[in-house]
Amino acid sequence: MSNDNKLTWDLESIFPGGTDSPEFAEFRKALDTDIVKAGKSLEDIPRNLDGDAAGKWVAFLLLVQHIMERLDHAFGFTGCLVDQDVTDEKSRVIQVELAAMNARIEALMTGIEELAIKVDDTEWNKLIGHEKLTGVSFFWNELRQNARLRMVPELEKLAAELAVDGYHGWNRMYNKMAGDLQAEFVEDGKSEMLSIGQLANKFSSPDREIRKQAFEKLESTWKSVDGLAAMALNSQAGFRLSLYKNRGWDSALFEPLLNGRLKRETIDAMWEAVATSGEKMADYIKAKTDLLGIDKFRWYDQVAPVSSVEKKISYADAGDFVVKQLTSFSPHLGSFARMVIDRRWIEAEDRAGKAPGGWCTGLPLKNESRIFMTFSGNYQETMTLAHEIGHAYHSWVLHDHDYFARSYPMNLAESASTFNEHLVTDAALEAATDPNDKLALLDNKIQEGFVMFCNLRARFLFDMAFYEERKKGTVAIEKLNELMVSAQKEAFGDILADDGYHPLFWASKLHFFETEVPFYNFPYTFGYLFAGGLYDLAKKEGTAFADPYKALLADTGSMTTEELARKHLDIDLTDVKFWKDAVDRALVDIEPFKKLIKKLG
Ligand SMILES: [Zn+2]
Repeated sequence: MSNDNKLTWDLESIFPGGTDSPEFAEFRKALDTDIVKAGKSLEDIPRNLDGDAAGKWVAFLLLVQHIMERLDHAFGFTGCLVDQDVTDEKSRVIQVELAAMNARIEALMTGIEELAIKVDDTEWNKLIGHEKLTGVSFFWNELRQNARLRMVPELEKLAAELAVDGYHGWNRMYNKMAGDLQAEFVEDGKSEMLSIGQLANKFSSPDREIRKQAFEKLESTWKSVDGLAAMALNSQAGFRLSLYKNRGWDSALFEPLLNGRLKRETIDAMWEAVATSGEKMADYIKAKTDLLGIDKFRWYDQVAPVSSVEKKISYADAGDFVVKQLTSFSPHLGSFARMVIDRRWIEAEDRAGKAPGGWCTGLPLKNESRIFMTFSGNYQETMTLAHEIGHAYHSWVLHDHDYFARSYPMNLAESASTFNEHLVTDAALEAATDPNDKLALLDNKIQEGFVMFCNLRARFLFDMAFYEERKKGTVAIEKLNELMVSAQKEAFGDILADDGYHPLFWASKLHFFETEVPFYNFPYTFGYLFAGGLYDLAKKEGTAFADPYKALLADTGSMTTEELARKHLDIDLTDVKFWKDAVDRALVDIEPFKKLIKKLG
């Protein structure tokens, strides 16, 4: 049992004094000085590897790595300051200061790219083969390969500079517009103005009239600005396509696949398997609509609860439950979770003035993480705790590697977190004694797959169709609506009623506008199914899988996604079979769900 129930985190051991910490100010100053120094030395090193230049380059690459690690550390700490107190304006100023440092480091990277393109393979391999660089050779080889796929460094530099106020500017404009939107909402006879985010939260209300009202308000509010949303979407997509044309990239998927260290065949195989889930998912929705007494299933019913798990749990008990379940699979993972809780790496207090949401950030120089969430005693928050501890564990097992071997693509980022969720969900299901609790838990579990298979697939199909259309010119609002409805029809099959689609989903979902991450959809489904595959192995092999699991996580920053699966799981991700098994696994709870409904009925 834990003897320390404090719900606030410890930041003092990172930099004492919070936002005003003199140590932290000193740290940033030293970092700034080193960035200036690195910039100066880059000017002096020749762009070849002759004579003593090779040694200078090794030192330079190591310096850049060290700078990046320290910047990451500073970003992590500042993120904690910003979210623990939304009124802390000074911490936001620090964030801007760090972002400016980041831009200067990108210029250093361009210098390295210039060298990488210029030297031949033999020279390059000799440089990367240096004993201090072998651990991060994948990172540097990837940088070189990607640089070769792009325009010359000077043009890329210009494009990146123009993107700040062009490409990314459209995203900022969209976010500002979405943030300002409000709608009048009536609940319990009371009328109030709600933000778009608050409206979206109403979709999980057990009251269908509330969900319906929220949806109608959402549609009409977005309708009032759909011209601006269409302009933002068309403009940023046009920017991307022009850039791609100049780089010689013919598919809109080229960049997202590069970012994901993925092959096109892998994504195709995954969606092919997902498409086979239609009949079973329709079965699940049929059982759920019967239970809820709904005639036609509409967009706003997707995350409707069957009932809520009311039982409250204390933070200490939630922590003990999570630790126990994780330990049952891996003592290493379990004792790590215990340490995270006991050493107060978690900010969980339920208080005003905190930012919403849950996340985990690394503090690489200390080999520590911090988890941010709000714990008020709900079941879902126990899951968040397990989820975020998964992220922290992932960082923990990566720490034996040099910094540049520790960054993994988005599609692998949710592996350890979702894995923990699977473990804890199944344990909670087993522990549930009340059949209504059990039903709600089963529904939560299946619903996650439903969203991954139908909703996320609709987003992907829309993006594919939209970018094809955009190549021909600006896409009008009516056409965007049409593309969206046909994507939803294909992804949901017969599940949604004829009047149950969300034509303006392309405007209301911020992911379509996220310029930093194009195609911000398939990584979710990928991560969910991949983690499911890992969980399946854990169930089959038990604690014997604990070490292989750890080894797989530790390699996530050092190879492509296909290589990772091949090396650690002996799986070919381009083969539809792996995905088909993963999809079927996500559907196994549908029969027990239907049976339980019958029993309760
Ligand atoms: Zn996560």
